[in-house]
Amino acid sequence: MPSPASDLRAFVARIPKTETHLHLEGSLPLELARRIDPIAFASPPPYWHPDYRFHGFALFQEQFDSCFFKWFVSPENYYESCRRVFADVVAQNCVYLECSFHLGTAERIGQTPFREIARAIHAAKPPGLELRLYLGMFRDHYAGHFARVVDEAITWDEVAGVDLHGFENPEFQPWSAEIWSRVRALGKTTKAHAGEFSPAADVRRAVEFLGTRRVQHGLGALQDPATLALLREHDVTLDMTPISNVKLRAVPSMREHPIQQFLDAGIRCTVSTDDPMLFGNQLNDEYLALATDTGLSRATLLKIARHGFEVADLPTATKQRYFTELANLSE
Ligand SMILES: [Zn+2]
Repeated sequence: MPSPASDLRAFVARIPKTETHLHLEGSLPLELARRIDPIAFASPPPYWHPDYRFHGFALFQEQFDSCFFKWFVSPENYYESCRRVFADVVAQNCVYLECSFHLGTAERIGQTPFREIARAIHAAKPPGLELRLYLGMFRDHYAGHFARVVDEAITWDEVAGVDLHGFENPEFQPWSAEIWSRVRALGKTTKAHAGEFSPAADVRRAVEFLGTRRVQHGLGALQDPATLALLREHDVTLDMTPISNVKLRAVPSMREHPIQQFLDAGIRCTVSTDDPMLFGNQLNDEYLALATDTGLSRATLLKIARHGFEVADLPTATKQRYFTELANLSE
């Protein structure tokens, strides 16, 4: 007879899933990190351990600057990494992926046209995976060469939308509201990281000032009932990443992760891995942790998976097929 743990694992594996919050540079596979630094990555890094906690966001960001960004210097290297990452995503029974690549790469690729990066990422997509690629940037990134790159990139077919990454300060700047509105006018999707560490007011600004309906994290909103009401009123989706939240100390423990409170408040929440190279996580681990440590029911796991398809950029008939598949799993 299977144990409850292996039964749960099998159940999670059967759930068709989406992943809607994944940073490609934070997904660098270990074997490629090893090519950059064979000694530091001879074995899995310490931060893959479940009990590891980052001491502040700056140290987390430092890993990108000191190692990961060194890989992402050419279309070929993006292709190499994405091919492996996308195969891992598909192995989690994930059929729809929204991931971002970082504007900072524009500085590292020399004379190569930046669009080649977006093309290389799409070329790495395996059959059976729907891919939507986002251009990610910092809150103060829009200047000089970067501004010209953003102005062009938002019009490319390869780019499905934009996201604001990194430190949740400074406040959102006027350029971002202007660009975000231009991106939506092009029929594309806008996102922003807010409320991972920042308060409810920052989440509110993402919705009201930037006009986004896709907030990455959004945890801070829980402190303010009026902001929760705003999220409901505007049908905002929170793309959450529980293991990342715990390891970065945005929440004290997985047991205390507030996703259930958001769901109870009528907010649509999805679940993703954020930066698997930093957290040593895969998508099924997120669902398992929510069931095992946070105490979410199987029905709630299915609801979260359904939320991902509700917000996905997929034809209605395709969504309906996944809704039916999820409903069948609940019987
Ligand atoms: Zn993120």
